[in-house]
Amino acid sequence: MALILDGRSLSEKIRQEIKKEVEVFLQKGLRRPALAVVLVGDDPASQIYVNNKRKACEKVGIKSLYYKLPQNTRHEELLELIAQLNADEEVDGILVQLPLPEQINQREIITSILPSKDVDGFHPENMGMLLSGSEEGFIPCTPLGIDILLRHYNIDPKGANVTIVGAGFIVGRPLSALMLNRNATVSVCHIYTRDISVFTREADILISATGVPGLIDKEKVKEGAIVIDVGISKVNGKIVGDVKFNEVKEKVKAITPVPGGVGPMTVTALLLNTVKAYKKRVYSISTIKP
Ligand code: NAD
Repeated sequence: MALILDGRSLSEKIRQEIKKEVEVFLQKGLRRPALAVVLVGDDPASQIYVNNKRKACEKVGIKSLYYKLPQNTRHEELLELIAQLNADEEVDGILVQLPLPEQINQREIITSILPSKDVDGFHPENMGMLLSGSEEGFIPCTPLGIDILLRHYNIDPKGANVTIVGAGFIVGRPLSALMLNRNATVSVCHIYTRDISVFTREADILISATGVPGLIDKEKVKEGAIVIDVGISKVNGKIVGDVKFNEVKEKVKAITPVPGGVGPMTVTALLLNTVKAYKKRVYSISTIKP
């Protein structure tokens, strides 16, 4: 029986620590950290993600500013809002929920966010820093959350075969850079990979981030592997991951559940990035140190 990597309880513990840290800022007479969350349109899944992020902020004492724009928002209007938020000294982090409606150029929007406020870590400057081996900038939240979860359970990717299934911009790509920084031997599979099982069966740590329910069955994993399931899909009204949890858990050493694994760690990583942005900002403008 596998060890269940409990992202929910680890998140709870880290969030308590963040809450205490925010209380110390306030005791020192500093303002609260603040995150601006921008949602364009009415996509129901995005609405849920945004609500979760906002609630998580408020619970730890981070101020959440919410900008909900209509589906037909023009590219220039969104750029204008971001310019205002970039200039606002009381805004530490800016999160634009993806995906954006098709009339908006997503790449240009991400690039318009000040790298020092880019708590999602998607700006080319932050992505580039990660790729160059530096973690001074912001690491995208899902890869960062996975890294923290692995560390908590003393799972060291150094020298391990890490296979990532899914090469998306949000998870797979930055995660491959992060795992390389951890000195893993990284394989990345995607939709054009001829036979993913060639790579997944070699994995000491297998991370799946495709959104294809049940893609990873017990035949695709190595005995005693560690399996991280990033996928989130809805099947018959139920949230499921990429991994056939019940059969895979019998074969592996450790596995994340869905829900309750990577999801809460992603939101926790966002809170950590926001506090990091806040500290850098307050250090640079205040004589009181956080
Ligand atoms: P994406 O669409 O950007 O990327 C999906 C990747 O999976 C692509 O590289 C694609 O080539 C690959 N892929 C698709 N089908 C495949 C198959 N049959 N075999 C091999 N590779 C395949 O998606 P994303 O934004 O990276 O998200 C991936 C999944 O992770 C989604 O289910 C998403 O909801 C979930 N997600 C979860 C969290 C979390 O916090 N748990 C955060 C972000 C994304």
